[in-house]
Amino acid sequence: MADQAGPSETPPVCSTCGTVAGDPALAAITWTRGTENGREVWTCDRCSREHLRSIEGKLDSAWW
Ligand SMILES: [Zn+2]
Repeated sequence: MADQAGPSETPPVCSTCGTVAGDPALAAITWTRGTENGREVWTCDRCSREHLRSIEGKLDSAWW
């Protein structure tokens, strides 16, 4: 039964800020799921936005 954990049993934890998703169903929609070294990593909607901004910022400064 250990490998039969449903998606709702372990709420996603943001790998960036450590926030635990209060609503796994909602997190599945609004959070970003990625894979790192074969492990599932989650990024909350807030951090995703921050990442996007910093990525865009880096791209921007690279252009200048
Ligand atoms: Zn976060």
